[in-house]
Parts: sequence; C-alpha cells; structure tokens
Amino acid sequence: MTKALHHAATSPFVEDETSNQDHLDTLQAYRAMLDASIDCIKILTPDGRVKNMNHAGCLALGVDPQSGFGMEWLSLLPIEIRRPGKKALQKAKAGENAQFLGKSVDELGEITFWDNLLTPVRNEQDQVDSILCVSRNVTQQCIAETKLRHLSEFDELTNIPNRRHFQSYLKKSLRIAKATRQSVTLLHADLDHFKLLNDTRGNTLGNYVLKIVAKRLVKGMAGRGYVARLSGDEFAIIITQTMSTEEINHIAQLMIEAVSRPITYNGQSIRLSMSIGTASWPQSVENSDMLAKAANVALSEIKQNGRGGILQYHSQLMKSVTRIAEQLELAQYAIDQHKVEPYYQPKVRLNDGELVGLEALLRFTMPNGELGYPGAIWAAFENRALVEKIGEQIRTRVFEDIQSWTEKGLNVVPVSINASPVEFMWDDYAEKCLAQIAHYGIDPRLIEVEITEHMIVGHGAEYVIRAIDVLRKQGVRIALDDFGTGYSTLSNIKDYSVDVIKVDRSFVSSLHQGREGKAIIKALLLLANCLGMDVVAEGVEEQEQCDTLINEGYLIGQGFLFSPAVSNNQIEKLLSAEQSID
Ligand code: C2E
Ligand code: CA
Ligand code: CA
Repeated sequence: MTKALHHAATSPFVEDETSNQDHLDTLQAYRAMLDASIDCIKILTPDGRVKNMNHAGCLALGVDPQSGFGMEWLSLLPIEIRRPGKKALQKAKAGENAQFLGKSVDELGEITFWDNLLTPVRNEQDQVDSILCVSRNVTQQCIAETKLRHLSEFDELTNIPNRRHFQSYLKKSLRIAKATRQSVTLLHADLDHFKLLNDTRGNTLGNYVLKIVAKRLVKGMAGRGYVARLSGDEFAIIITQTMSTEEINHIAQLMIEAVSRPITYNGQSIRLSMSIGTASWPQSVENSDMLAKAANVALSEIKQNGRGGILQYHSQLMKSVTRIAEQLELAQYAIDQHKVEPYYQPKVRLNDGELVGLEALLRFTMPNGELGYPGAIWAAFENRALVEKIGEQIRTRVFEDIQSWTEKGLNVVPVSINASPVEFMWDDYAEKCLAQIAHYGIDPRLIEVEITEHMIVGHGAEYVIRAIDVLRKQGVRIALDDFGTGYSTLSNIKDYSVDVIKVDRSFVSSLHQGREGKAIIKALLLLANCLGMDVVAEGVEEQEQCDTLINEGYLIGQGFLFSPAVSNNQIEKLLSAEQSID
C-alpha cells in the first residue's frame, strides 16, 4: 500500500501557536502557491465533497472560486468518467493512492485529457480526513501516445492494422469466442507472383497495387470481418462468428474475385490473383494457439500445388509440415556435425559380376548412432541452402576417397554422384564441381553426375542444361537416373545430351509380371543403343531378373543381388580385390 500524507505541524489547516496574522499570511502564501500551479488541485472530504480547489481547478471544472465549495466532486466530472472517479475515491477513502485517466470536452469540442491522482491525507489519529486530488493536463502526451500506437499498430502504406495489431486482435477474438462459445475463422491471403510484379514493374506500382488490394478487402468484408496486412503481399482476415465450411469458402471466393478485378495504373491494366488458406477454431484446429499456424500451413500448401485458390486446413497438412520440419532439422544436424558421408553401391558387368563403377549414395550418422538414409532427410533435398551443403560435403568426401584410392594404387572405377534439381538453381553447379575435381587432381572422366529426367524438362531446366554442357565439355559423364518414371516418352531421349540411361528399378521388378515389362526393357535398350548411350539396369534383386536382362542384351546392372551401398572401408577392400585379380 502506498504511504498516505500526514498533516505536518506547519500545515495551514492546523491550529498552532503562531499569531493570527502570521497564520493568515501563511494561508495566503499557500493559496497563492496553489493558484500558481497549472495542475488542478482539490481537497476533498472523504465522502467526495470539494473542500477547497485552486484557480486552475475552478477554471477546468467551471466552478466559481467564491462559491464556498462543498459541492459533490463527482458531479463536476463528465458523465463517462464518473465511474472510474468513484472507484478512485473509494480507494483513496480506504487509505490507498488512486489514479485514473479523465477526459473533458469544452464547448468548442476540444478534448482535454487529465491524469488524476488521489492521495489520502491522514490526521493525527491516522484516519483519512481529506483527500488531495491533483489533476494534470496530459493531452499532449495522450495525443503523442495515440499517434505512436497508431504508427505501431497500423500499416503506413495501406492504413489498415499491421501484424502487431493482428496478433493482439486474434488473441482477443479467441478469448471472447471461448467465453461466448463462438468460433474464429482466419483467412490467410497472399498475392500470386507479386514479387515478380514489384521487381519488373517497380515499387511505385507495387505499392499502389497493395493499397488497392487492402481497400478492396476491407470493402469486400463490409464490416463482417477484420482485415490486416501481415507483411509484403500477405493479408489476414478474421471472422468472429460461427460459419459453415461453405460459408467460409464463399467469403474467400468473394475476396479472390474482388482482388482479381483489373487494377488500372497509368493507363495499364493489371490483373492479380490471390491464394487463401483458411482455418477455424474450434472446427479445424483444437488448440487455438495453432490457428494462425494452421491457416499459414494451408496457404503454403496451396502455393506449392500451383497458385490461386482456397484451401481449408485439415490435420493431415500439419503432419506433413511437422515431418518436413523434423527432416530439415535432422539434415541440419548431419551437416553441422559433419556426419554426412558417401556409401558406394557397385555397378557390375552382368555376365561376370565384374565391378565397372560405383554410385555414391548419401548416408549419415543419426543422433542415436544409427546409420541414416536419404529417406530420413528427404525434405532437405528440396531446400536450396541445405542441399547445397549436403552436395558439397558428399562431393568433397567422394573426391577425397578417389584421391586416396589412387594414392593407394587401387584400381579406381568411375564414380557417379546424385544431384538434386535445387542444386542447379544458383547456376554454378558445374563450375563448383569442376573446381573441386581440379583441386583433388581427379580425371573428370572418372566422375558421372546423375540427374533425373524432370530436371531437364521442368522448371529451372535451363540451369541444368547449361550445367550439363559445361560438365560434358570437361569430360564429366551425365547419367539420366530413374529413367521411365518421369514425364518424357521414349522418343524424346534423343533430345537429351546424356551419356548413360539408368532404367528405373520399377521396370526391372516388373520383368516377370507379363510381357509388358519385358517389352519396355527391350525398347529402352534398342533406343539407347541407337543413340550411342550406355544403359544401366537399376534394382536388380534376383538372379532371374539378371538372367533376363542378360538375354535381352543388357550389359550393366546395379542392385541388392550384387551389393547394397557399402562404406568406403569395404569398397577399398573390393577395389584391392579387383586389383589383385588383374
Ligand atoms: P537413386 O539415385 O535411385 O539411388 C538408388 C537407390 O536405390 C538407393 O537408395 C539404393 O540404396 C537403392 N537400391 C539399390 N539397389 C536396390 C535394389 O536392388 N532394390 C531396392 N529396392 N533398392 C535398391 P538410397 O540410398 O536410399 O537413396 C535414395 C535416393 O536418394 C537416391 O535414389 C537418390 O535419388 C537420393 N540420393 C542418395 N544420395 C544422394 C546424394 O548424395 N545427393 C542427392 N541429391 N540425392 C541422393
Ligand atoms: Ca542415382
Ligand atoms: Ca535411380
């Protein structure tokens, strides 16, 4: 509890031994001092009547200084602040300091904000016998605070709430919804290709577009929901009434239509599209803390599977997100701890089993000490930053191994390394790879890079094709991996400048399921032979498959029948055994 004032011996309100004249002089001096103050100073009785008031107080509350006072203080206050005023008075009467913010409006409509501080004054018996009320004009401060709050909670460009405001609004909405058994729906919207528009047509246009989008969303919601700009081209809408899936979809569709109406800027017509991920509490997410994340997950999913449209969150989505996050974390661990290493799977001549090449396959030591396989960090192969590091570490280890095999005088065979599409996105894959090959003094003809067919027909194909050309010019061979699983037909193999075709193991395993499997295997070989490409059959697991392949004219195979991928140690033994046979 805050300490209350006590009457001092020199208080003008207390009789003492000074002469009457002195007493009066002192009183006047106090009065003058109080009147000189710009704060409104009042002395109230514990039951809230005005005992005394300085000049500024009289002016602010419209009281005649000659009135003799005695009126009820609360009745002088604007109606809307009488409640906090009454509470403060009760608190002060009970012996505690109290404070509240007040507001007065003059006849011209000008608003003044007051910070009111009530301090109990105790007599010698320690009873509260009056209350000192000091009201300070804090209008400037309040205006500055309001401005600051607006600046910190509203987006400067579009003048709608920003992410910070959104977060507190969402929390508040959920709190209210829980109490009223309503639900909260969140629409997370993102413009498609906005970055491209901004980069190619300029910031000014980009900003104009964002302002229009914000306006259209606010107008489109027509007060049925709250609209905020989260960042760049991301917007959020909060709806605080219970809605069916159809109703939510309908609103989202209306928003998409509003945004996709052409926007005219400097005589140009711009068309936008938007994607929206939606989630509702408690319908689609049980835990309200997950609502924002869920809508975001739905949005990411829809952006990944082609742009434009609406997706409602369902729990399966979060599982895949969690799995991806776990895989990325595991990959990051393996990279940071340098736990990544190549295992080597032999490629053999089918008729006599002689080792003709190796494929380096990623392995890593898991935190529990077990051996990790690519499948455990699949997502990392699609993550630019991670796959680049993984590729770099694997290549380094492979080249170090080849260098050491050479130094040991082993019979080195060509080694192939796998590359993911994302690794080509920086457009320096070939250069980096060749620089490493040169650094380790390796003959480029000993290296083969395995790419998959969708890498040369899909998105970003131009980078891959350029890299292939650069690598091939230096003698590095290119293999087309998993052939037959992509989109291309047999007839466009000839358009690819590759040296080797690796027939996917699904064809090898279908060899004994009717004639179709065999027909494809046959056709593939024929075509490859015509184009002067080597062919490797993948996933040979059984002797029967091997025999059929030999019969069909296949020369090289790879698979568990011969060997799985093994560590460098075991490969060294294999290479030295080959050496001793020679
Ligand atoms: P892939 O390039 O098709 O590699 C062959 C996969 O088939 C390997 O799986 C291998 O262990 C497995 N395999 C080999 N013979 C047989 C067989 O007879 N039967 C069966 N059922 N499977 C067989 P792994 O090592 O788990 O690798 C999976 C995939 O991960 C690879 O498929 C490749 O796409 C990718 N990968 C592996 N290492 C790397 C790497 O260093 N970089 C990149 N970018 N991708 C890699
Ligand atoms: Ca491969
Ligand atoms: Ca393969």
